[in-house]
Amino acid sequence: MRALWRGALDMVFPPQSIDGEAALAGGLSPLAWSRIQFLDGPVCDGCGAPFEFDIGARCAACLAKPRAFDAARAACLYDETSRDPILKLKHADRLDLAPLFARWLSRCAHELLAEADAIAPVPLHPSRLLSRRYNQAAEIARPLSRLSGVPYLPDALIRRRATDTQGGKSGVGRRRNVAGAFEVPAGRARQVAGKRILLVDDVMTTGATAAGCARALKAAGAVRVDVAVVARVKEMAGLTI
Ligand SMILES: [Zn+2]
Repeated sequence: MRALWRGALDMVFPPQSIDGEAALAGGLSPLAWSRIQFLDGPVCDGCGAPFEFDIGARCAACLAKPRAFDAARAACLYDETSRDPILKLKHADRLDLAPLFARWLSRCAHELLAEADAIAPVPLHPSRLLSRRYNQAAEIARPLSRLSGVPYLPDALIRRRATDTQGGKSGVGRRRNVAGAFEVPAGRARQVAGKRILLVDDVMTTGATAAGCARALKAAGAVRVDVAVVARVKEMAGLTI
C-alpha cells in the first residue's frame, strides 16, 4: 500500500522534474542534486533511520530507549551533498529553497501529515532570529502547511534561553544544552493541548533538539508529537534521548 502511494506521489511530483528546476535556481548542478540520498526506502518508524530491508517497526536504538517524540521522518541523508543547499537556506538568505524542501517533506512525512492537527517549527531564540532575520524551520513549515492543508502554528513553542550551537557536541552534551530550553507560551496552551503536532526542522543529528521540543509540547498536553526534517545523519551516534 505504501509503495503504491509513493508511486502515485511520484507521478504527481516527479522527483527529477522538481529537482531539475530547482537545480537551476539553487545554483547546484543537476549532478549534485542527483547525488542527494533520498530516504524513499524502508525506514525506522521511530527515528526515520534507513533500513536496508523492510524489517518493519523500529530500529534497535528506538526499541532500547523510546524517544520523546513519537515518530520521525527525513527526506534525505545529511551528507556533503545535501549539506550545501541546507546551509544556503540557513545562512545565505536562500529562502527560495524552502518551498522545495517543503515539497520533499510532504512526500517523506505524508503518513505523519495525515494524522497531524497542526504543524509547528522548531523555534530560534529571539536574539538569533534578530541576527538571522528568519527561522529556516518556519520557512519550511509554512509552505508545508499550505501543501498539506494542515494548520500552521508558528509560535507553538518558544526558545526561552539562547542555547550554544549544537555543533561539536556529543549526544549527552546536546541533550544538556537544550534541556528546558523550550516551552509552550501560556497563550498557545489551548492550541496544543489534546493535539497531534508535527514538528518541522531542517536537520536532525542526535535528535536532542526535537526531543526537547517534544517534551515541552507534551508537557503542555500534546497527545502526539512527530518530527519531519529535510535531512538526518545516517547514524545518530551517542544517542541518548
Ligand atoms: Zn529508530
